[in-house]
Amino acid sequence: NPEGDFKADHKFADLMQDKNEAVSDFAKRKSIAAQRKYLPIFAVRNELLNIIRDNSVVIIVGETGSGKTTQLTQYLHEDGYTKFGLVGCTQPRRVAAMSVAKRVSEEMGVNLGEEVGYAIRFEDCTNENTIIKYMTDGILLRESLRESDLDHYSAIIMDEAHERSLNTDVLFGLLRDVVSRRQDLKLIVTSATMDATKFSNFFGNVAIFNIPGRTFPVDVMFSKNPVEDYVDCSVKQALQVHLQGLEGDMLIFMPGQEDIEITCELLAERLDDLDDAPPLAILPIYSQLPSDLQAKIFQKAPDGVRKCIVATNIAETSLTVDGIMFVIDAGYCKLKVYNPKIGMDALQIYPISQANANQRSGRAGRTGPGQCYRLYTHRQYKDELLACTVPEIQRTNLANVVLLLKSLGVQDLLQFHFMDPPPQDNIMNSMYQLWILGALDNTGSLTPMGRQMVEFPLDPALSKMVIVSLDMECSAEILTIVSMLSVPTIFYRPKGREEDSDSAREKFQVPESDHLTYLNVYQQWKRNGYSSNWCNEHFIHIKAMRKVREVRQQLKEIMDSQKMELISCGNEWDIVRKSICSAYFHQAARLKGLGEYVNCRTGMPCHLHPTSALFGMGYTPDYIVYHELVMTSKEYMQCVTSVDGQWLAELGPMFYSIKDASKTRVERKKQALNEMIEMEEEMKRADELIKARKEQ
Ligand code: ADP
Ligand code: MG
Repeated sequence: NPEGDFKADHKFADLMQDKNEAVSDFAKRKSIAAQRKYLPIFAVRNELLNIIRDNSVVIIVGETGSGKTTQLTQYLHEDGYTKFGLVGCTQPRRVAAMSVAKRVSEEMGVNLGEEVGYAIRFEDCTNENTIIKYMTDGILLRESLRESDLDHYSAIIMDEAHERSLNTDVLFGLLRDVVSRRQDLKLIVTSATMDATKFSNFFGNVAIFNIPGRTFPVDVMFSKNPVEDYVDCSVKQALQVHLQGLEGDMLIFMPGQEDIEITCELLAERLDDLDDAPPLAILPIYSQLPSDLQAKIFQKAPDGVRKCIVATNIAETSLTVDGIMFVIDAGYCKLKVYNPKIGMDALQIYPISQANANQRSGRAGRTGPGQCYRLYTHRQYKDELLACTVPEIQRTNLANVVLLLKSLGVQDLLQFHFMDPPPQDNIMNSMYQLWILGALDNTGSLTPMGRQMVEFPLDPALSKMVIVSLDMECSAEILTIVSMLSVPTIFYRPKGREEDSDSAREKFQVPESDHLTYLNVYQQWKRNGYSSNWCNEHFIHIKAMRKVREVRQQLKEIMDSQKMELISCGNEWDIVRKSICSAYFHQAARLKGLGEYVNCRTGMPCHLHPTSALFGMGYTPDYIVYHELVMTSKEYMQCVTSVDGQWLAELGPMFYSIKDASKTRVERKKQALNEMIEMEEEMKRADELIKARKEQ
């Protein structure tokens, strides 16, 4: 009924206009109630609740913005499901979990963290009154460790299933069994795209429900020639759209934070250069942006001001902003992909898939006809973009997943029911990595060390570091270092004050280690009463430091629960370095020539990052270990610590012996390969043994 829609549209527009600053809480709630009724999902509310009542698993498909994420939880609550347990809703992205929980708490008129709350890693904003819980899929996965049938929940919504995040894929396999055991549990899987049949088949041909959409045509324009600089090009395109005089907000898709920041700056600069350009509200959004700034994208701009949101693919389906008429799509996103060359995952910029491209252009047609400018050619779209993004489970390191599944008693991972099984090599590589760390034994079973590692919501290497630090009697120091590594950057480098901030940073540097530099910063902050002034004076992000303190407290609670003691080594920081080495020995580099390093295992050249404490200090140790490799123009080691060659031989005997130094790169590679083959064979033998025993 297009006419009806049209009328409703007007009413909606009026309501939105009403929303000025002086609006009372009551009026705001009333207008929110009206907005809820306007969503496409509202028209099918009862039908949906009926189908959920009759089925234990339902797949729900609906356009982005139809109300799946914000409404389903509330409908289930209104239908009585929260009387028997929590209604949980998982999100692949932290930002979405937080932002949506906040929105729903407003819709229900309650305080966030009470009836409606959220949980993400290191941040639990729920309490005993919580009945609707938004969380990352990683959180629910960890909860299944404590409570394998997830008895706390009466309903679970696995949202954004089309994203196919690693944790969601693992949850699929686990929940498939849970629903067969628990007749009282409702499982709802939502997707913004049409791959629903695949989900339905996976759960045994379960019901699919389509939410009728309401979309407007979008004019899609391709670039005539391949674009060289997508930032510059999108700024030009944005200006052109802005100045052409049509009404409507704008959304620009960029791959990541750096590009977003540059785009925003450039756009503001060029607008400034123009005489009497109409005003433009430029709003960035990416996961590391502080949440008060994130909320801004949803606020209506003052009358006559156009909004221009510059976003990562978070705005593709996770967050819906109303009123977008123009989309500019740079055509790239950041993906975590296992890089065999460096033996670990690396976050890199890749072209998006055709499915992404179509989702992005769809954002322009939600409230009226729109336009989308693609900064790539039609030929590139057809020939170079994949139809769909490869699921994360098929392209990333699985060490954490393997550890988790093993501790859930899944012996044979190749038999686990994955929707799309990961390549066998991937599983074997991850198992090998866990074996190196001592988490798995030669038969592929979890060791006591591995069992302890599962307790920590950290990467396996970091969990190992914490556990080893107990024996080495420096767990207090290591806990601080691990917490510092769990937050994004703590050093603040404001524009125009680069030199001041760099010299402030240098004062903290411990010449032999970036890890110890972190420890130093934290200890000084603590000595200064955790003061925010102190942080400001020293160009340190106070918010990041507070987060570190929280993370440390939470990790400490886990240690307490495991009867692990917090022991300080005082000033004996060599012990701390050795603990660090015990977790990173497989990521070591050896000095070769002046300030040049080569990776000990692969022989590949790698470089100290210019921000490292070891960089340009005139002190170049023979051996170092690193936290991670980042690939930009060169391979940079990020966060490094100097270690003793002896320690490497002692802690990583499978890689290094003293005489090893003379071996060639090819020989070392061969040896690593042989070890892996041996481990695989041993595991196979163990498997056969178990099978034979079962048959007897
Ligand atoms: P879906 O999950 O189907 O994509 P959502 O439930 O996320 O849809 O969105 C429904 C509506 O709620 C949209 O119009 C969206 O703009 C609005 N909305 C969602 N989150 C917020 C928020 N934090 N602030 C204001 N509006 C929001
Ligand atoms: Mg959603």
